[in-house]
Amino acid sequence: MAGMLYLVPTPIGNLGDISVRCRETLEQADFIAAEDTRVTLKLLNYLGIKKSLVSYFEHNKAAKGEKIVERILAGETCALVSDAGSPAISDPGEELVKQCAEAGITVCAIPGPCAAITALSISGQSTGRFCFEGFLSTAKKSRREHLESLIGETRTMIFYEAPHKLTNTLEDMAAVFGADRPLSLCRELTKLHEEVVRTTLGEALEKYTENAPKGEFVLIVAGAPAIEKEVATTADAAARVQQLMEQGLSRKDAIKQTAKELDLPKNVVYDAALRE
Ligand code: SAM
Repeated sequence: MAGMLYLVPTPIGNLGDISVRCRETLEQADFIAAEDTRVTLKLLNYLGIKKSLVSYFEHNKAAKGEKIVERILAGETCALVSDAGSPAISDPGEELVKQCAEAGITVCAIPGPCAAITALSISGQSTGRFCFEGFLSTAKKSRREHLESLIGETRTMIFYEAPHKLTNTLEDMAAVFGADRPLSLCRELTKLHEEVVRTTLGEALEKYTENAPKGEFVLIVAGAPAIEKEVATTADAAARVQQLMEQGLSRKDAIKQTAKELDLPKNVVYDAALRE
């Protein structure tokens, strides 16, 4: 009989957040697949659990995934953990879940810590409708394109970010969404220095340009007011610039007017017009 795959979430800063069910699953599994075995070993030592560990991370997931599936099909039960939080959410696991599902293996996700949901719930932003955007690219061009694709997004947006990239990200977000857009910066959640800064993109940029940010962050950005969604896409902007130029306006004036009409930042219209 085939075994099972359990996705076991682990604390994002406070070891006390490990649940009874997670502990039992780790104890009872035949083996644990871990993103970083050294990190998981610390957790297991804290819990007093001794268990066979295999590594499963971004760069070995293809080969390791197959081996894990074989072991489960042979009857073993695997508990998958990442360094912190919920496996498969901006962490290894997504592929393994797919591979197991294709092989007819039962996958069970145990609910538990997730930085995105923890941050959203204390952000003070609307929680009724939200979208998870994960990490933005480190490359400026794709980062901007990602953000521009969200210009008309009315749902609350959740981003993960590393401290050394935060100011660049805030700069791009302020340019694309506008400096006044509300933002909640959720830092070091569940840790000693947990902090939630409810501010705007512009103010946050100023604050962290003066004092380099430290720790782990989740950014919760308010969605656009509903009305913007209907008009404000970069494709619309590019088309309108083209139309105005055909009517005789210079590129500069066409961009200026389009930005005004569509209520978009000028640099966004400029980039859109250049790309088309
Ligand atoms: N799978 C994990 C989860 O469910 O929370 C997320 C893993 S992702 C590789 C790591 C990112 O999550 C960090 O860069 C940061 O954006 C966010 N994060 C993790 N722990 C955090 C914490 N204690 N406080 C704030 N953000 C955190």
